Amino acid sequence: MEAPITFAGPGLDRAPEARRRPEWVAERWADPAARTLIASERGVWVERGDGAARPALGRPAELGASPDDAVLLGLDGERPLFAVDAEALDGGAPPGEPVGLRQLAAELSERDAGVVAYAVALLNWHRRHRFCSVCGNASDQVDAGHERRCPACGSSHFPRTDPVIIVAVSDGERLLLGHQAVWPESRYSVLAGYVEPGETLEQAVRREVLEESQVELGEVRYEASQPWPFPSSLMVGFSADARADSIPHADGDELADVRWFTREEVAAAAGWDGQGELLLPQGFSIARRLIDRWLARG
Ligand SMILES: [Zn+2]
Repeated sequence: MEAPITFAGPGLDRAPEARRRPEWVAERWADPAARTLIASERGVWVERGDGAARPALGRPAELGASPDDAVLLGLDGERPLFAVDAEALDGGAPPGEPVGLRQLAAELSERDAGVVAYAVALLNWHRRHRFCSVCGNASDQVDAGHERRCPACGSSHFPRTDPVIIVAVSDGERLLLGHQAVWPESRYSVLAGYVEPGETLEQAVRREVLEESQVELGEVRYEASQPWPFPSSLMVGFSADARADSIPHADGDELADVRWFTREEVAAAAGWDGQGELLLPQGFSIARRLIDRWLARG
């Protein structure tokens, strides 16, 4: 059986109705059982005990922050769980250093990784959307941090999630992998790109693959998706069949190289954790999930 998708939602009760009432949120903030995790642009504060890392959860009352600055992630059973930007704390950032999400992906439990990804995505959005995109006025956080509203023009703004397609293309025998110029020399991955306005996910798959590799696709199939808070994407994973006799050709812009890899080459790289001839994406990424599924299907 496959492992759960890293960064997938942690199954909190997001309390979408109740969180609209500021007095209910203030009560949750004052609840002695409430906890909040703290993040900055650079990552999340964690604690390490007996080898395992966990988000460092503080008591809201002791943090020198107000519920107006915090986002309510939801209820973990009865326990309210918040997230707050280190910049919003009266005393400034807590001691210690925040740890980046890519590193944490390998260290946290699946559930904690989901909590942290959710919190970071929401805090990233607030940090980058302080001003109303309609009139330019500073906007206020409402709905326990799940909305911003502009006091000048009344516009509502909601957290954005940017869809990105990612696709394992095969000609039946081989897998299409591309290499970006900024990556280490031997690193290759499946192709990916942002969905543009006015296109379906499947159209985005066909366009991106054609643009980046000149390969035309036959059937396109949905596989799985993964929240990807760098800063606010949702990776939507597909597999696809290349039309017969497709010859990949890199666009030289997004990709420096793109080519077919045999099943043997990919299988050897998948079992190799060192600097092999072919370096595949990290295990927690959906890119790697798509590659592993392709291998497993034989
Ligand atoms: Zn406005």
